[in-house]
Amino acid sequence: MNGLLELWKEADQLVQSRPVLRDFGDWPDRPEGAFLPSRTLPAVWDVERSRAPACATTAPLLGTLRGHAKALHWRQTYSAGEVGAAFLSKYGYVEVLGPEGHFRHEGTRAYIGYWGAGLTYDWHVHEAEEIYYVLAGSAEFRSRRQGAEVLRPGQWREHLSMEPHAIRTAAEPLIVFALWRGPGLAGRARMSVA
Ligand code: ZN
Repeated sequence: MNGLLELWKEADQLVQSRPVLRDFGDWPDRPEGAFLPSRTLPAVWDVERSRAPACATTAPLLGTLRGHAKALHWRQTYSAGEVGAAFLSKYGYVEVLGPEGHFRHEGTRAYIGYWGAGLTYDWHVHEAEEIYYVLAGSAEFRSRRQGAEVLRPGQWREHLSMEPHAIRTAAEPLIVFALWRGPGLAGRARMSVA
C-alpha cells in the first residue's frame, strides 16, 4: 500500500479506537490527499531508528511512521533564534491532517511530533485547543493548571486555548500524535512564560 494511505489508515484506526481522540474534534471519513513533497530533517534519522517503546494501541501507527518517515513532509515551527540549533537537530513534526497537511481538512488538525532524548521544549502557547497522545517513548508534561506528570505510550493530556505548557524528555525520545481544534487551527505555537 502507498505509504501515505497506510499512514492515514493507521491514524484513522488509532482515532476510531480511542474515544478520547475520536470525540475530541471533527474527524473526517475520507479526507482529500494533497501533494506535499518529501522533506527530511536531521531528526528523521532518529525517528527511523528510534527504539522508544510503543504499546499495543500505538505500535501500528508508529511502525508505519518509521517505515515511511523519509517520504513525509517534516516541518519545524521554530527558528534557531527562538530555541537554539541543538533543539532543532532533535525535533520535527508532520501534519497528517489539516489546512496544510498530507490530508486536507479545515475542522481538525492532526500531527505527529518527535522530540529527541534530553530535550526541554520550554513554555509555549497556541490559540487552538490540543490533545497530545503518546505513541512512543516518554516525557514529563508540565502546565501550571495540571502540574507535572510523566506520560507514556497510550497516555494523553489536553491543553486549553492559550494554556502555557512545556515538555521535557529524559533518556528516551518522545513521539506523540496530537490533535488541534477550535479557533486558531491554522495558527502556530509561540514561546511564552509559565
Ligand atoms: Zn501544544
